[in-house]
Amino acid sequence: MVASGFWLLASGFWPSACKYRQGGQVAVFKGFSIWGIRVRIDQSWFIAFLLFAWIISTAYLPLQVPDYSRFTYWVFGTLSSLALFGCVLLHELGHCVIARRLGIPVRQITLFIFGGVSEMAQTQSSSPKAEFQTTIAGPVTSIGLAAIFWTVAVLATGFLDRIIVEMFHYLAYVNFSLAAFNLIPGFPLDGGRVLRSYLWHRSGHLGQATRTASRVGGIFAMILMGLGFLSILTVSLIPGVWLILIGLMLKNAADSEYRSFELQSGLHDMKLREVMAPPIAVDTSMTLSQFVNDYVFHYHYRSFPVVELDRFIGMIDVRAIKGVPPQDWPFTKIGGYLSDPATYCVLNPEMEAMDALQTLLSRNCNKAPVVRNERLLGILSRSDLFKLISLKRDIAA
Ligand SMILES: [Zn+2]
Repeated sequence: MVASGFWLLASGFWPSACKYRQGGQVAVFKGFSIWGIRVRIDQSWFIAFLLFAWIISTAYLPLQVPDYSRFTYWVFGTLSSLALFGCVLLHELGHCVIARRLGIPVRQITLFIFGGVSEMAQTQSSSPKAEFQTTIAGPVTSIGLAAIFWTVAVLATGFLDRIIVEMFHYLAYVNFSLAAFNLIPGFPLDGGRVLRSYLWHRSGHLGQATRTASRVGGIFAMILMGLGFLSILTVSLIPGVWLILIGLMLKNAADSEYRSFELQSGLHDMKLREVMAPPIAVDTSMTLSQFVNDYVFHYHYRSFPVVELDRFIGMIDVRAIKGVPPQDWPFTKIGGYLSDPATYCVLNPEMEAMDALQTLLSRNCNKAPVVRNERLLGILSRSDLFKLISLKRDIAA
């Protein structure tokens, strides 16, 4: 009974987050679109769907409305689980519809095992008010749905079959707990964004507001994990594991949201040419011994841009010369050991610094030459960018 009540509550524990322009892709089963908003369903969603169908069919419904056949429980359990995800989707659509109305372009909605994410195609909310309105729209939608399902359940009592009425009751509870859970003030949950918009409005400092809201988010995630451990010890295993997983996911999300916020604000409005480092290049006429002794051992880099008569012609990686016997190094030119162009990225100095970083991350490059009209102008590495952000922070503090 306790576990069943817990599950009723836990099925509303669906983190819903709004993301502002994030990189990274998840494996996607397929997508469709509602009101012009793309909806993607991650493969992991099916695990959650089956898990909830199973819990509702075998534990929740048999306790609430006994004496039905196993088949009937499964039919209504599956329908309830589908409806639950429909409600999560409507919650996300609530965010997106208001965002669009406020002129914030919406990229897509993703449903996955731990809830829903609305992605906006813009780095930040334009104002505290816009952030508040976009965020609160989700929980308001869920509370509205809870009220509708509850009214239907009340009106249908004694009129429709008991199990159908129970399904409406369940959906009313679930939507209510969905709103309540997401309103907990831990960033990046809706409540955390509401908190951030309030702090932002009060202090005028988005960075400070984000830092405080993320910290509260991290604390809340730890509390959730603590409750999960308690539940494993006292109530039952699966709800506890579920709480711990959601806590871990939230902790991770709070940290990565803050890091990406710092990055975005640190690189905001900067061109790549303003942040790239001066290039250290090798010439094709150089021998392998000169390359190793004067460059690799001296600068401690693994790869270098290669130039010929001042023209950029490629990159060389120290791993490429592994097969050459060291006694041949003084007589072998590096020109024959250039890397395959598909393995590195070349950047344009006029691109935005943030886009350059996205390119490095998405193509899995650690560093890249910056080239214009075949001339090597600089070099950009991920670690340099992160160092730059922390330098900017030190100067600002
Ligand atoms: Zn939400």
